[in-house]
Amino acid sequence: MTDRDGAADHAPLNLRTPGPTPLPAEVRQALALDMVNHRGPEFASALRECEDGLKWAFQTRNDVLVLTASGTGGLESVVANTLSPGERVLVVSIGYFGDRFARLARAFGADIQIASFPWGQAADPNVVAARLDADPSIQTVFVTHNETSTGVLNPLEHIALAARRVRPDVLLAVDGISSVGSVPILPDEWQCDVVVAGSQKGWMVPPGLAFVAVSDRAWRRQAEARMPRWYFDWLTHRQALAKGATPATPAVGLVFALRAGLRLMRAEGLAAVFQRHDQVARYTRAGLAGLGLRLFADPAYASPTVTTAYAPEGVQASALLRALRETHGVVLAGGQGDFEGKMLRVGHLGSVTQQDIAAALEALRLELQEQRGGVVLTGSSR
Ligand SMILES: *Cc1c(COP(=O)(O)O)cnc(C)c1O
Repeated sequence: MTDRDGAADHAPLNLRTPGPTPLPAEVRQALALDMVNHRGPEFASALRECEDGLKWAFQTRNDVLVLTASGTGGLESVVANTLSPGERVLVVSIGYFGDRFARLARAFGADIQIASFPWGQAADPNVVAARLDADPSIQTVFVTHNETSTGVLNPLEHIALAARRVRPDVLLAVDGISSVGSVPILPDEWQCDVVVAGSQKGWMVPPGLAFVAVSDRAWRRQAEARMPRWYFDWLTHRQALAKGATPATPAVGLVFALRAGLRLMRAEGLAAVFQRHDQVARYTRAGLAGLGLRLFADPAYASPTVTTAYAPEGVQASALLRALRETHGVVLAGGQGDFEGKMLRVGHLGSVTQQDIAAALEALRLELQEQRGGVVLTGSSR
């Protein structure tokens, strides 16, 4: 990474975590803009451009709200705006973030039923349909599009079809935080009523903004839902957005950054952005396998935005990650939940090229050689 300066306080990094992701120069320049009045015309113009750009990237005609919050705040807004206390919800979980959504909704007093699938596998649409068929009280399904903890992309279109075949008026809410903007998703065609995304994933923007696409069905549900809500009340956001504003003071600087990020995405073209992610993901999987690592995710559902592999036998993942960072400036992520210390995760979303991954793979090759060399040396010297 020669073209991305670190701040004076740290060395440049090849940041390959699945969020936060690196910032292109244009985005960093936008972040250097001075503040404006968040009730003034400069901000309104930036927010309107972002709203248009988000609808374009989400490929939707639904409203897309911009919340000042992490992705989890966007997910909390789904619970607060679509559910009522005690209401039964089917959460389809294939990993850490699916489970986390279940905990979030439970904290609000929803009655959570989980359809969980083994880590590394995708959800089976037939199982989702069967669960709905068995329980007519379920009117809401929540599903993760891309499970960042396992590197699996769910067959969202098929899950959506299967769910709606059984329950035509089901509310389908999607965690698209590590997919939207990087992976094709068609919320309108697939009838995904709510889709959540987060600025620090594929958007090339720092953490701090959540985007929520809301369908007509979700708005009707919102009018009846009785969960407590205030800051995240979608209706107040929609009313403010119509005037080019937000209900409370937003992260103004991040909206400027988002405008710059969306301009870069528009210049590249959405199909090209998707294709780049797919191509870089293939390159990453081949590269890790070529280094002798065992890939974690079911290859049929391997994610275009994050690649997972088991830590090699006899190699401590934490030591490997530290060596990569300290010696090479390459930052990968480790495993989550039960796979902490046992997995490597390579993020390749947002501002990423094959060269970025090639550099990360070369650093990994050198460090594995170092660590394996150490093992062999110890063994042969005894
Ligand atoms: C990153 C991520 C989240 C959490 O987002 P935060 O911005 O950390 O709150 C949730 N779900 C998925 C799929 C993610 O990748």
